[in-house]
Amino acid sequence: MSYETLTQMVRACEACPLGERGVGVPGEYVGDQPLNAALDLGIPTDATVYGVRDVMVIGEAPGGTEQHAGRPFIGSSGQLLRTMLADCGLESYYITNIAKHRPWVENRKQQAPSKDTIKACSGWLLAEWKMVEPKKVILLGATAAKEVLKLKGNPSQSSLVNRVYPFPFSAATALVLFHPAYFLHNRTARYVQKNINDWQRALRNFLGADLPTYPIEKVECIIHG
Ligand code: URA
Repeated sequence: MSYETLTQMVRACEACPLGERGVGVPGEYVGDQPLNAALDLGIPTDATVYGVRDVMVIGEAPGGTEQHAGRPFIGSSGQLLRTMLADCGLESYYITNIAKHRPWVENRKQQAPSKDTIKACSGWLLAEWKMVEPKKVILLGATAAKEVLKLKGNPSQSSLVNRVYPFPFSAATALVLFHPAYFLHNRTARYVQKNINDWQRALRNFLGADLPTYPIEKVECIIHG
């Protein structure tokens, strides 16, 4: 399926009750040409900033800003995410969500997409996957990780993050990372800076970057000298 067809179909989707929220929000390519266009142009697909062109980033569901604009990850957590990815050298990828409409909001809190919504949207995610043929998949938060990796039970986000997972049905590998909203909602938590550093280190490792090394000249113990 071409990207144009997919986009039109997702926008018009009414397969679950969330369809009444407005247009469905399809994924989009960020950075360089889509992989298919790159292949047509004869651009090597195995070498970009960190040797990765076909990366797919998958989040949970559009928020209010995304639902309104019909584009994924353009609100505050999306902007933070795009900056953090670029900081790690990842500037060319396909970004999308498990659910294509904004879930209901209760007590001013956006709910996670229901099982029915996720099921109704699963065909779209599969079509996007077949189009991108990702080699590396970045899963943001527990909802995306549980759905894509078909994890059993209810593992917490912190128990899943910064680890690489194989896929039984594909040669791709997945890295689970904290959803950027976690950093926005926990801004004052003690370990946020450490979590951000770990997030970026895990991503750079996953992308195969050469990690910077910091030569240590002398280590002095503050107690024993
Ligand atoms: N959070 C998500 O998971 N996806 C978006 O598109 C925006 C915020």
